[in-house]
Amino acid sequence: MITMTTSLPMNILQAAFLERLEENVSLARYTSARLGGLADVLVRVNSIEELAEAVSTLWAHGISFTILGGGSNMLVSDAGVREVVILNRARAIRFDENGFPPMVWAESGANFGALARQAGQKGLSGLEWAGGIPGTLGGAVIGNAGAHGSDLAGNLMMAEILHQKEGQVYWTAEDLQLGYRSSRLKQNLGEAVVLAAQLRLAQGDHAQIKARMAEYLSYRRKTQPPGASMGSMFKNPQGDYAGRLIEAAGLKGLQVGGAQISDLHGNFFINHGTATARDVYGLIRTAQQTVKAQFGVQLELEIVLIGDWTEEDRE
Ligand SMILES: Cc1cc2nc3c(=O)[nH]c(=O)nc-3n(C[C@H](O)[C@H](O)[C@H](O)COP(=O)(O)OP(=O)(O)OC[C@H]3O[C@@H](n4cnc5c(N)ncnc54)[C@H](O)[C@@H]3O)c2cc1C
Repeated sequence: MITMTTSLPMNILQAAFLERLEENVSLARYTSARLGGLADVLVRVNSIEELAEAVSTLWAHGISFTILGGGSNMLVSDAGVREVVILNRARAIRFDENGFPPMVWAESGANFGALARQAGQKGLSGLEWAGGIPGTLGGAVIGNAGAHGSDLAGNLMMAEILHQKEGQVYWTAEDLQLGYRSSRLKQNLGEAVVLAAQLRLAQGDHAQIKARMAEYLSYRRKTQPPGASMGSMFKNPQGDYAGRLIEAAGLKGLQVGGAQISDLHGNFFINHGTATARDVYGLIRTAQQTVKAQFGVQLELEIVLIGDWTEEDRE
């Protein structure tokens, strides 16, 4: 792990964030892959007011930042992050069970899977598909998280966005240009943040919702490997599956250092405990090159690369 002298204006940051600011924080403990280097500066926010204030302050001073939700869809470089990392722990959730339609409003740092399970416990249906998805609601909006034939776009009524140029806006799935694991915001990270979102639900039968969620979770356990990973590494190409292509290329089980392409699912890359981001990147590159050479398909990353990446990391 490499420690660097920060070029961030520490006097401004310390005055703005006081005890919510930490220096030289390992991001490995905040990511589902359990790897990644140090953040020069990490600022924890516990409400969307704090999130909005932090982002506005950084924009006002021209200081770039990265939002860290559940860290379950990102690969943080071994060299770490020179931008300010904002750890989003704004987690308030409010259900409106008697609304037309019933709905839930939640802050973007709320755990999305837990929110879906809470809805189910209240007999509210519509989010059964999301019960096993790690990470935050904000991360789910950014990547239009989806599973079992559904995705966030199908539930989203509106997202509260703080946009650098447009201020606070309320955007629908259409405004956000939600597509397959993509959004306008994912294309332009740093330009806006998700503060909160309101999701459409429906009255349902508690036992049926519970049964459907259990079925989905059991399917997940059978088809996805346990262990530290980022979930699916690549987007599925049109009409095919990244995992199938990686398996057909003979790459299942391939290991670089402490990282391995899962034996169970070719699109899951596992950290066995000692993996570096560079090891994982080695597997990414091999999978992309081999699949391209054998099938002419360019695999596109679903995950986001965060931090400083050198040419050496990508060799
Ligand atoms: C075991 C496993 C299974 C998974 N299964 C699925 C699945 O079935 N379906 C699926 O879609 N995904 C799946 N994923 C991927 C991941 O859980 C989702 O993409 C999730 O929605 C990411 O949320 P997060 O909070 O962890 O995002 P992070 O990894 O923290 O962030 C992802 C990106 O979004 C940005 N971001 C996060 N929050 C905000 C915000 N509030 N405002 C602005 N930018 C923000 C970050 O800066 C980063 O660029 C899986 C992952 C794992 C590890």
